[in-house]
Amino acid sequence: MKFKHELPVKIYYGSKCLSANDKELVKLGRKAFIMTGPKSGKLSGALEDVLEALRLNNIEFSIFDRVENNPSFKNVEEAGKIAADFGADFVIGIGGGSPLDASKAAAVLAVNRIKPVELYKNMYKNNPLPIAAIPTTAGTGSEVTPYSILTRHDLKTKMSFGSRQTFPQIAFVDPGYLRSVPVKILANTAVDALSHSIEGYLSKRSTPVSDLYAVESIRQFGKSYKNLLKLEINEQTRNSLMYSSMLGGMVITHTGTTIVHSLGYYLTYFYDVPHGMANGVFLEEFLSYNYTASEQKINNILSLCELKSIREFGKAIEMLVGNFKLTCEDARKCAESVPGNKVSSNPENIDVSGLYGIVKKSCC
Ligand code: NAP
Ligand code: FE
Repeated sequence: MKFKHELPVKIYYGSKCLSANDKELVKLGRKAFIMTGPKSGKLSGALEDVLEALRLNNIEFSIFDRVENNPSFKNVEEAGKIAADFGADFVIGIGGGSPLDASKAAAVLAVNRIKPVELYKNMYKNNPLPIAAIPTTAGTGSEVTPYSILTRHDLKTKMSFGSRQTFPQIAFVDPGYLRSVPVKILANTAVDALSHSIEGYLSKRSTPVSDLYAVESIRQFGKSYKNLLKLEINEQTRNSLMYSSMLGGMVITHTGTTIVHSLGYYLTYFYDVPHGMANGVFLEEFLSYNYTASEQKINNILSLCELKSIREFGKAIEMLVGNFKLTCEDARKCAESVPGNKVSSNPENIDVSGLYGIVKKSCC
């Protein structure tokens, strides 16, 4: 048995965990640069909690609440510049994956004179500003990953960067912030978290420890998705979704995502399909393609979700996120967009024609 395991994020989990541990913010500095979206920070109540914690501890702050969904270079460049002009000591990201990922980019750009494209070198002369991450969706697990996924108009796709330097220093994970999330977004993001755990569990890069996280994450999804379908969303459901998402982040921190995410980026870039849905449409065919190579693990996924077959699994995911259609020509381009490193971590050998088969069966 051989593996490396590293997770340098201090995590506080649970209801009101920020106000109970507000002194942690003082350790990050005296000037906070808050990054959030136009709605997520306010509607979740997380922004109010953060402002209260900062005032109580006499920490100065500046708010940037214009983070875009699927943030662009321009968006993070602007935020980085404002953070630098403000003289920020640290960044607080509040929101779904978009604000949290944008915080990581701005934390680097605020202290390094580089263009956003150079973020992808994954080595920065000056250490990024420390980051506190506060998720308000249950999907990306970005609060515990080093990854930041930005829209690359130059390459017409989305692409992630991330290294040991871009982990948040601290995460405050409070399931209560999910109360304001519309059910459609809850469903899409739950499927993103599931996708992280399934892709990581089946990846050739999985480890015994990442598998522990993955199994528990999938089990928590299994406990909550029926409630999502019945629109019976209570405290327990929100807790399962948030916990599943955080564990899914821990999985991909060690395994990375695989072909499902790469195929999904195509749908998001060209058709603005929400991230979780973009992954969800490929999951059934991903499992079918890999069944022979990963029979035991796939049977375990089905049993953790209390489902009898891959077909039943596909129907459940479709009920959560819907489906999406592509032309055959587009399906080919989507298959061709998957980078080599994602192909190599797929459990079963796969090439462009195998990918094309998955896309065609999923979307044509
Ligand atoms: P998102 O793009 O952050 O947010 C989706 C929508 O939900 C936005 O309109 C947002 O409002 C709203 N929202 C967020 N929290 C809310 C709340 N509590 N109440 C009401 N509305 C709320 O969606 P996401 O799925 O969480 O993140 C997707 C992004 O993360 C993608 O760019 C994806 O590529 C990336 N991602 C990152 C990782 C990673 O490891 N870093 C992993 C997977 C995916 P606002 O517009 O106001 O924010
Ligand atoms: Fe994702």
